[in-house]
Amino acid sequence: MPNIDRIEGYADELTAIRRDLHAHPEIGFEEVRTSGIVADKLTQWGIEVHRGIGGTGVVGVLKGNGSGDKRIGLRADMDALPMEENTNLEWRSTVPGRFHGCGHDGHTTMLLGTARYLAETRNFDGTVHFIFQPAEEGLGGARAMIKDGLFEKFPCDEIYGLHNAPNLKHGELAVVAGAAMAGADFFDITIHGYGAHGATPNNAKDPVVIAMTVGQALQTIVSRNVNPTEPAVLSITQIHAGSAYNVIPGEAKLAGTVRAFSDEVRTLIRARMRAICAGIASAFEVEISVDIRDIFSVLVNSEEQSKAVEEVARTVIEPGKVITSSPLKMGSEDFADMLHAVPGSYFWVGHDGSVPLHNPGFILDDKILPIGASMFARIVETRLPVTAHA
Ligand SMILES: [Zn+2]
Ligand SMILES: [Zn+2]
Repeated sequence: MPNIDRIEGYADELTAIRRDLHAHPEIGFEEVRTSGIVADKLTQWGIEVHRGIGGTGVVGVLKGNGSGDKRIGLRADMDALPMEENTNLEWRSTVPGRFHGCGHDGHTTMLLGTARYLAETRNFDGTVHFIFQPAEEGLGGARAMIKDGLFEKFPCDEIYGLHNAPNLKHGELAVVAGAAMAGADFFDITIHGYGAHGATPNNAKDPVVIAMTVGQALQTIVSRNVNPTEPAVLSITQIHAGSAYNVIPGEAKLAGTVRAFSDEVRTLIRARMRAICAGIASAFEVEISVDIRDIFSVLVNSEEQSKAVEEVARTVIEPGKVITSSPLKMGSEDFADMLHAVPGSYFWVGHDGSVPLHNPGFILDDKILPIGASMFARIVETRLPVTAHA
C-alpha cells in the first residue's frame, strides 16, 4: 500500500516548501523565518498556532471529529547546521556558513504536509499537537520547549518523531523498540600552563605536551575502564593551542564528545575524565579545568508505540522493507528528552541520499516527503480512530 493519495497530491507543493527552507537555512534558536513560514501555513489551514515555545518553537493544535480526549504529539526539528553546503543544486543554501546538512528542512516539510492533510480531512478522534522544535543540533531545543511548559500547555499521551536516513534505501523504514540512540556529553578541557620562548621550555609549563598526555590518557577510559560489553565512545574533536613557531603557549584546550547507553557508564566516564585530568594536573604542576555537559539523553522507544509505527509502516511502504532491528546508533537525538516525558517512538525513513548526514554534499531526496507525511498522518488515524458513533 502506498502513501496517502491526498498527500501524494501535495508532493509538488511540499517539494517547493522544502527547497525554499533549504535555500534559507537557520541554525538553532535562530529559526525566525522558518518558524514564521510554519506558523503562516498552519494558520492558513485553520490550525490553532502557538509561537515562542522554547524560543523559536511553534505548536499547532488540531482537534479531530468526535469527542475523544486522547492527544498525540508529532514532532519535527527545524534547524540547520553551521557549515558550508557543497552542492550545485539550484536550491542550495543562500546563506554563507549555514546548511540543512541533516535534512531538518525535510522533516519540517513532512510535518506541514501531515498538518494540512489532517486539517482538511479530520478523520481522527482526539487532538493532535504539531510540535515544530528549534535547535536539535546540540543546542537543547527539545529541553528548551519542555522547560517552557510544552507538555503542560499541550499534554500528549504519546509522541512520534522521525529522521531521514540516507544510510537506508528509498522505500525502507526502520523503527527499533527500546534503547536506540546514545546519550551524549560535550566536554571542554583547559590546561592552564605557563608560556615561554620555544627555545627555553625549562621556563615554561608547556600546556601542549600536557594536552597530548591528557589526550592519550583519556583514550584508556573506554578501552580499560568501561565494561567491554557496554558500547561507549570518547572522541577528542578539537585541540587548540599556540600561534607561533617559537612560542610555547600559556594555555591549551581540548574538546569533544562522549557517547554511551547507560547512566552508569556515562557517570563512570565523567568520573574517570576528572580523575585523569586531576592526576595529570598534579603530576605536571598546572591547573586543568574540566567542563562536561550532558547534552543528549539516551533515546528509548516505547514498545507499544514502536509496534504501532511498525504496523502503520507496513501500510505505507512495502511490508518487507520495514526494519525492526538494527545495531545501536552511537549518534544522538534530542527527541530523546521528549520520549523521557511521554511514551512514543522515533523512526528512520530511508532515501537515496548520496552521502551521509552532516556531509557538505548531503542531498535530501524530495521523494520521501509524502512518505514521512503519510506516516505521521496514518499514525494519527490509527491511534485516534473515529468510532461509528463519533
Ligand atoms: Zn544532525
Ligand atoms: Zn538531524
